[in-house]
Order: sequence, then C-alpha cells, then structure tokens
Amino acid sequence: MGFWDTTQQILVILAHPDDPEFFCGATIAKWTAEGHQVSYCLLTKGDKGVNDHFSQTENIKELRIEEQKNAAKVIGVTDIIFLDNEDGYLTPNLELRKEVAGVIRKVKPDIVVTCDPTNYYLRDSYINHSDHRAAGQVVIDAVFPAAQNILFFPELEKELHLEPHHVKEVWISLPKEKNIAIDVTETWSRKLEALTKHASQIGDIDQFYNRMRSRHTEDSSDETPRYEEVYRRIVFS
Ligand SMILES: [Zn+2]
Repeated sequence: MGFWDTTQQILVILAHPDDPEFFCGATIAKWTAEGHQVSYCLLTKGDKGVNDHFSQTENIKELRIEEQKNAAKVIGVTDIIFLDNEDGYLTPNLELRKEVAGVIRKVKPDIVVTCDPTNYYLRDSYINHSDHRAAGQVVIDAVFPAAQNILFFPELEKELHLEPHHVKEVWISLPKEKNIAIDVTETWSRKLEALTKHASQIGDIDQFYNRMRSRHTEDSSDETPRYEEVYRRIVFS
C-alpha cells in the first residue's frame, strides 16, 4: 500500500554518495517499484571517503560517482545531480542554500527527502557526520522559504529563470524523533545489493551483510526478520 494515488516526483538531497542507499535505500526501492520518479542531488562527491580499506585518493571523486550511479541503478534511480562542494566541510551557509534552492526550483519535486540536522548521535554508537547535519539544515531551509519565495535569491528567477516552487512534503531520514516507520522488509535485500556497489566504503562484504541483516526490528528475529526505515514526515498544509 503506497502513500500517494498518483505518481510523485521525489528528490533525495543528501551530503555524500552512499547516503541515499544507507539512509533510505529500501524506501526508495519501494517507491520506484510503485512507479514514483526518484532523483538524487548529492552536495559533495565524497572526496574524503577514505578509510582503512581504501587509501587511494587520486581519482576518488570519479570512483565515488561511478559507484553511486551503479548503486542507484539497483534501486531504480538514474537521474543524479552531483554538486561539487568539498566533502567534510559542508556548512549550512547562504551560498549552499541558494544552490539547493536552485536545484529544487529546477527539479520541481513533490516530495523532498533529506536527513535530520538535529541528530548528533546515531544508535548510541556513532557521531552523525557534520556534513549530514549541514545538508539537512540547508535542505529544509531551502525548501522553506527559499525555494518557494520569489524574493529569496532573486537572481535565480531573473538570471536563471528558475521560478519559485512549493514542495508538498519533506521526509527527514535518520530522525531524532520519528513519526512514521516504513516496513521495507521486501526491499531490504535490494538496499543491501545497492550498497555493495559502494565497494570503496563498505569494507569486508561478509561482515557488512551480517551487520546489515542484524538491523531488523526488535519485534522480529534473525530467522524471520522484519526491517524498517523511519522518518519524520512533514506534510505541508
Ligand atoms: Zn555520508
């Protein structure tokens, strides 16, 4: 059972290649299967995405773009805008807000998906990356009011002919306080398959699968797992 009766244009705006699949990949797979049109806008090319498993930095942007395209294809997304802000240094400033507002006016999404700028800690075992918080902040500030108000960044309209656009809903992934949980059991394996395309980021594949399969809901088991992706859903009235 879907959320909408008609085809929706959904724009996922996040900081890094691999964020869409990690944060909401199973939901995206469900939406594309239901016939919705999903596109991505990534604010960086993930050029600091090196870890113990990957130390070659020379062509990391190209590699991460390629991985992202392959991952997105697995869950039904082919339209990806890669912005070129420096990985690790995202700040929710006016320049970035204008850039994102311009993308929203251009793509004209019904639904925008981003992540929670107020969430500093994840599962009591991770610090949420500062780029994720900055991306969430700048996206919600771009949705309202910058994208919809002609007096914000007037050059967008005057010079680039990007008319104001009203988004209908915002879905906040990695929410500090969720108000909706999507059962994504059916598309969880598709999410994992997509994530394996980000080979430079996931390390040992068996450990990765074990870790991700263990993230079932508390009311289910390893034998019959149920998976959810949760959001704070804002529906503008
Ligand atoms: Zn990230």
